[in-house]
Amino acid sequence: MTQETPVVPVTLDLREFRDVPRSTDACVSLWERLEPAVLTLDPQAGPRVRFDLGDEGEVGVWFLDPASAPRPLGATTRFAIRGVLEAPEIRHACTTCLTAHTTTYAPYKCPGCDEGRRMGRACEEHAVFLEGSLRASCLGHTPVCRCGARAKVWCGGPKCRTRTAWCETHLRRHPGDPTVAYCEDCYAERFPACEHEHCTGSGYIRCEHRTLSGMKPCGRRICTEHARRWQVYGSYNRGLALCTPHHLRLSSTPPEGLIDMILAGTVARSSRGRSATRRRVQLPRISIVRHILINTRRAVLDMEAIDLLFTALEQGLRGRTPRDTNLSTALDLLSRHRVSRREDVERFRKQHVEGRGHYDRLVQELRRGGRYELAEAVEFSDFRPRSGILFVRVPERLQGLFRGKGGSSVRQLEQRVGVKIQVERG
Ligand SMILES: [Zn+2]
Ligand SMILES: [Zn+2]
Ligand SMILES: [Zn+2]
Ligand SMILES: [Zn+2]
Ligand SMILES: [Zn+2]
Ligand SMILES: [Zn+2]
Repeated sequence: MTQETPVVPVTLDLREFRDVPRSTDACVSLWERLEPAVLTLDPQAGPRVRFDLGDEGEVGVWFLDPASAPRPLGATTRFAIRGVLEAPEIRHACTTCLTAHTTTYAPYKCPGCDEGRRMGRACEEHAVFLEGSLRASCLGHTPVCRCGARAKVWCGGPKCRTRTAWCETHLRRHPGDPTVAYCEDCYAERFPACEHEHCTGSGYIRCEHRTLSGMKPCGRRICTEHARRWQVYGSYNRGLALCTPHHLRLSSTPPEGLIDMILAGTVARSSRGRSATRRRVQLPRISIVRHILINTRRAVLDMEAIDLLFTALEQGLRGRTPRDTNLSTALDLLSRHRVSRREDVERFRKQHVEGRGHYDRLVQELRRGGRYELAEAVEFSDFRPRSGILFVRVPERLQGLFRGKGGSSVRQLEQRVGVKIQVERG
């Protein structure tokens, strides 16, 4: 037969007790202080009893099941603390306020305030926010700039990504929009300076000059105003962007060099962007290349000669090793180009025959008008049957004479010959 030890369940009311025990041991030792007095009680006489512990406050003992408690309670009675009531506590208290012995609800975290395992917090009044991020800190831990001064802005630029804060002196604000502020480095990255001296514009455009041997672009930053487009893809497509030095160098670059640049630029363009746009990037037809050479170098080459330049370039590249992606792309572009070149050369021959006929009549007309000097000097350049334009070359000094007042002489010639006449630029 075993005598069952009675267990008396209780709850401790510690809402008025100052030093709430934080561990089981502390709770047990508080109970041991109370037990002698508890044993003298009759739970059925009053289920809730309060003990005055002087400066420490009051502790309440609640008997949860007074009817089943042994009477009287004795040394063999076992008690079980089923619960503890505590004063509601502000879980997120402001660290700054706590040092002044007040407890304030603190919605913001301060990474600088260290409260052991968790980050300290800041209340509405003690929280500091900088421009550029919703991250807060307490007054004492306001982020400082690299120079030691109080920071003003979290830089959201490409280098800092709002991880670094800067003071007003080390910030650069956009002249047009003062709410846009970055550190010097990020500013230079976001609003790169134009390479042009004294230009305040942003160099959003990079010079696309490159050659096949290097493929590394010049990369100089140029503003839209100072960027020069080398129109190698016809007048309706964006030409290659060039910085001033590279643009100026075009006229002294031999045709081989220019074609190398066109191919390198096209390789670079076709290897970036989505595959849909990549397929559209093609080398300019040699009819366009011919005009590019005329406009940039004042070199008039016929189609066969230009075709040969491309063929020679392709042959040179075929022998090159190792064959990297750029080289493969270049060879790919060139072999697709070969088909269009054959067409262009063929068409050019035909046009040449037709154009020669118009040209011969033009010379006849000049002679008939007694303009012998012009008849001797004018040269055939090109004929475009679709637009009906005959391109001719006229020495610079005779061009005014050829055109006549307000273009009247040319208009007269056009009427007689039956085609439009244009003097080749350069
Ligand atoms: Zn506070
Ligand atoms: Zn702090
Ligand atoms: Zn600073
Ligand atoms: Zn920055
Ligand atoms: Zn500029
Ligand atoms: Zn350049």
